Amino acid sequence: PVDRLPEIQAARLKLPVLGEEQVIMEAVRENMCVVLCGETGSGKTTQIPQFLYEAGYASGDGIIGITEPRRVAAVSMSQRVAMEMNMSTRVVSYQIRYEGNVTSDTKIKFMTDGVLLKEIQKDFLLQKYRVIIIDEAHERSVYTDILIGLLSRIVPLRRPMKLLIMSATLRVEDFTENKKLFPRPLPVIKVDARQFPVTVHFNRRTPTDDYVGEAFRKICKIHRMLPPGGILVFLTGQAEVHSMCRRLRRAFPFRSNRGSLIYLNLNHFCIYKLNISPFGDEDRQAGIGDEEDGSDLDLELGDDPGDEGLEKCDPMLPLYVLPLYSLLAPEQQGKVFRPPPAGTRLCVVATNVAETSLTIPGIKYVVDCGRVKKRFYDRVTGVSSFRVTWTSQASANQRAGRAGRTEPGHCYRLYSSAVFSDFQEFSEAEITRRPVDDLVLQMKDLNIEKVVNFPFPTPPSMEALVAAEHLLVSLGALEEPPRDMERVRLSCPITPLGRAMAAFPVAPRYAKMLAMGKQQGCLPYVITLVAAMTVREIFEETDRPAASEEENAKMAQRRARLGQMRRLWAGQGASLLLGDLMVMLGAVGACEYAGCTPKFCQENGLRYKAMLEIRQLRGQLTTAVNAVDPEARLYLDAKMAPPTESQVLCLQQIVLAGLGDHLARRVQVEELLDPKWHNGYKTPLLDSPVFIHPNSVLFKTLPDYVVYQEVLETSKMYMRGVSAVQEE
Ligand code: ADP
Ligand code: MG
Repeated sequence: PVDRLPEIQAARLKLPVLGEEQVIMEAVRENMCVVLCGETGSGKTTQIPQFLYEAGYASGDGIIGITEPRRVAAVSMSQRVAMEMNMSTRVVSYQIRYEGNVTSDTKIKFMTDGVLLKEIQKDFLLQKYRVIIIDEAHERSVYTDILIGLLSRIVPLRRPMKLLIMSATLRVEDFTENKKLFPRPLPVIKVDARQFPVTVHFNRRTPTDDYVGEAFRKICKIHRMLPPGGILVFLTGQAEVHSMCRRLRRAFPFRSNRGSLIYLNLNHFCIYKLNISPFGDEDRQAGIGDEEDGSDLDLELGDDPGDEGLEKCDPMLPLYVLPLYSLLAPEQQGKVFRPPPAGTRLCVVATNVAETSLTIPGIKYVVDCGRVKKRFYDRVTGVSSFRVTWTSQASANQRAGRAGRTEPGHCYRLYSSAVFSDFQEFSEAEITRRPVDDLVLQMKDLNIEKVVNFPFPTPPSMEALVAAEHLLVSLGALEEPPRDMERVRLSCPITPLGRAMAAFPVAPRYAKMLAMGKQQGCLPYVITLVAAMTVREIFEETDRPAASEEENAKMAQRRARLGQMRRLWAGQGASLLLGDLMVMLGAVGACEYAGCTPKFCQENGLRYKAMLEIRQLRGQLTTAVNAVDPEARLYLDAKMAPPTESQVLCLQQIVLAGLGDHLARRVQVEELLDPKWHNGYKTPLLDSPVFIHPNSVLFKTLPDYVVYQEVLETSKMYMRGVSAVQEE
């Protein structure tokens, strides 16, 4: 029996999935696996676990598990459901990589997909779960895909276990029509969301590159001229989000004395209305494309007074501006769900996280830049880069849909309909776009020797599988295949070292370092290094473009100071060899010594959230090391004394063991044929030079040989996490 507050009950009744409760629960009763499709905001994530709970799926000792591709969603949804059910977070809990509040009383457990994958390694049959819900399956995250593949085999062995796959789009054929995965097509339940019409306005022209400026002008116009209602802006990354927030706050500061509001009859200006039916792409396409009508916001809202005019203009109503992106601290993220202060208009400036996993209440206007920032990997060289590209039509429509949740809304697309029609229809599954060495190791540990035969919803490329197997063999995690037996190449069995590595929740290269770290009391340092390399981006971004001269000067000053700190953390003598890795160790040590406070992090250019995650991951890795080797009897000494000289040399060997194929040799002067190689390094796989970044402590030293954590292509091919290799 669930005792909900009356206002919660009333709000629930308005959600589309409530009307389908009988149908859904009957399908679940009759089938092992069911697919549920419903537009974002229809109530899938918050309500389905409650239906299952009330139908008794968590009575006795079975529990309900629900996976999310994003940590933000796992945390915030568990809290929301606990609140709706009027239950303790001891019962409705979450577990993400770095933390959780699961107890022995937990009945509904939200977790990231990676967490469930790890649990399968410990207990292949997932005995403690009665139901597994895979949420946001349309996002096609790598772990979600793999989980669906594994669960397709586990569920039949675990009758009467149930599997529910939930998707915000109807594009589920990769799961339902994939005979290798599920021999019989799965039943699909569609929930028709009550979606209010969203009028889509395309720009007549697509602005060249300044979509951020264009977005700013649109927001200003909406705020100045259109009736109340929240604004949700989609940009591509954290730096953009922040600079937009600053700009908006400057343009529309809080004022206590409000001016009067001018209401425009929007319908008067609407050129065409599109009813964004939840899934009917056909309907959607129909209305789009007739730009001769002049569907620019400009036309509807009068002449563009220009940027200057807008910044100076007197705001009618304060704008309550909030950022939203995955790396943002949870307290900050939580703000978007709370009502804005009375007499203000909410404006959320977000990255892709707001596209499907979170529903922000009260959004009436969406401003969509049409782009997305993604990490791209070169399949052969492993070099990665973040690139901003056009998003897919499916994503753009998801974004637009965010505007019509509570009343009719408007979506302003900062690109033309011609550009939209050139977008790819759907975004590709992540598994086809990234290296798969971690997955292959995990699968081998599950005794899936022939990974090529695994029932992937979408298989990774052959090249990626071969590269992964190759790396794992070179790390000693898989047995070397007998020579001249090409065909067994993709079925090398796992070694005992591989099993030990698979027990660590980090990438195989780092797992190898942990497995080797026992010498000379190095383990605490290796754990810290691995934690810092896994959490990534431990330093605040300092290279972003400044908005003004003054800011520029301030940032230069700050960079100089942070550079000084890094040199200090890099230490003296032998420890200098470890380069950027020593900086990571020093930064973590200094931060812990200072009690890991937000103030210390702020002053020293460290990302507070990253430091907390490193602390948690260090704890987990320490536990994992003790579990693999009870003799180790390691405990976590957060502060750590700096390593001794012999430890530094030992650490260097350990790092080399994990990153051995990431070796680069400095190009000697006599080899310099082309000026582009000046200060460059040669790597085995790349034809072009790679460089040490000016932020690296080794930038001035330029050692002859280095190993690097990764190569990231920005303005140049830069190595990150560089340490020197001593010549014998
Ligand atoms: P779906 O999973 O289908 O996208 P959700 O279950 O996440 O839908 O959300 C259903 C509704 O619950 C949303 O439309 C929103 O109004 C409300 N909701 C969800 N999370 C919160 C929250 N943290 N605070 C307030 N309302 C929320
Ligand atoms: Mg959801």
